[in-house]
Amino acid sequence: MNADIAVIGLAVMGQNLILNMNDHGFKVVAYNRTVSKVDQFLETTAKDTDIVGAHSLEEMVGLLATPRKIMLMVRAGEVVDRFIDALIPLLDKGDIIIDGGNSNYVDSNRRVEKLSQLGLHFVGAGVSGGEEGARFGPSIMPGGDVKAWPHIKPIFQGISAKTDQGEPCCDWVGNAGSGHFVKMIHNGIEYGDMQLISEAYHFMKEALLMSHEEMEATFKKWNETELNSYLVEITIDILAFKDTDGQPIVEKIMDTAGQKGTGKWTGINALDLGIPLTLITESVFARYLSSLKQQRVDASNLFNKSITPITENKEQWVEALRDALLASKIISYAQGFMLMKQASEDNNWELNYGNVALMWRGGCIIRSAFLGNIRDAFVAEPELTFLGLDSYFKTILQRCSPAWRDVTSKSLQIGLPMPCMTSSLTFLDGYTTARLPANMIQAQRDYFGAHTFERVDTPAGEFFHNDWTGHG
Ligand code: NAP
Repeated sequence: MNADIAVIGLAVMGQNLILNMNDHGFKVVAYNRTVSKVDQFLETTAKDTDIVGAHSLEEMVGLLATPRKIMLMVRAGEVVDRFIDALIPLLDKGDIIIDGGNSNYVDSNRRVEKLSQLGLHFVGAGVSGGEEGARFGPSIMPGGDVKAWPHIKPIFQGISAKTDQGEPCCDWVGNAGSGHFVKMIHNGIEYGDMQLISEAYHFMKEALLMSHEEMEATFKKWNETELNSYLVEITIDILAFKDTDGQPIVEKIMDTAGQKGTGKWTGINALDLGIPLTLITESVFARYLSSLKQQRVDASNLFNKSITPITENKEQWVEALRDALLASKIISYAQGFMLMKQASEDNNWELNYGNVALMWRGGCIIRSAFLGNIRDAFVAEPELTFLGLDSYFKTILQRCSPAWRDVTSKSLQIGLPMPCMTSSLTFLDGYTTARLPANMIQAQRDYFGAHTFERVDTPAGEFFHNDWTGHG
């Protein structure tokens, strides 16, 4: 038996990736810690396929062609390290371990290093698209030991989603933990997109008093524009879905958002790397705020809070809202790419940003038409510092700005929270302001702590301390 690849982990992602690989003609060995799940899988979902089961790691390794390729689709964290440690004595130099879970890129950095010292090749591959993506074409973001890439490329590019032009939504990202870093940014952007769509829905429902049918029709129209995306598509379905009593089910869902931590990691990395990733970070805070349900209910009573609806020019407000959503979304992606650029420079990953946009073009949760334009922007200018400076995106930002200001200022007047739409506009205002009031901060720092400051009228790098109080 000379199987092409083994997959460890038979939960939702592992099973579907295996079936996808089998469909594409690859011979796959399936293994799971709870081995009864191997037989269960072979007897049910994988019946009448060429998939082979293994009941121990030794048996699994013995069934593989060399160099062996073993993909972990298990819970991220310690579990991955435990499997790696158990596999090391069973493998030969040149063999490959791929972690396809949602691992922290810092762990992947460490694993690439550790395995390379043993002559083994480690790949940290972000996989996006959930169950459906895994089964029929995910977006895959592999990075780590590049020696592994020629061996795994046919499998990964074979099973990945394809763009309309037939390009695979999978390419080599870079060395060390860069694949998992890019997947983390993907998830952060997903948080931002979801929050922005929720803010638009909130404005439609509470400020414009639109019915669910009107909201559904509006998102349908928007999906024919630059906003065309998977998340807008599912929003249309969600708005249309009725509960057993004929009422929209979305209104029966508790307004407390869950999370698994990748948005938080993105925000923490932005703080660590010094990048103003305001929109994604704000979207994580919005989820935290949502989870304070009882406190919010109590406070709304205490403050006698109500939102004053808009009664005039509804159609114009809907159009303005679309512009505000589009402009905010551009800022979110622009900030995400700023963070990737900083991480790439700090870690010498040499990320290809156009390729990253292409990998997200299909298969994943943030897939959208818009990513095609982002790819074009980075192909035209690979070292673009800020997406909003690309001519296509700059034109949209300038065109949408008046409506974006109208919607966000209206939301402040009527008391409707739009944290991401407002903070993204404030970010752009800051980014396009040549002189910010940080001179006052520097003066204060020097006043109380003698932290010194640079002057605008002397060469950069010369620092001064002022005697603010006359006491020396
Ligand atoms: P999961 O629920 O995250 O993990 C289940 C798998 O991990 C099972 O094979 C389980 O084995 C194994 N496992 C858990 N604890 C273990 C332990 N202590 N020792 C050994 N094995 C252990 O599965 P998933 O949802 O399919 O996700 C797999 C990976 O892909 C995760 O890293 C996840 O974050 C990532 N991911 C998930 C999605 C998604 O939509 N679900 C999307 C993208 C990425 P047993 O059966 O023996 O318990």
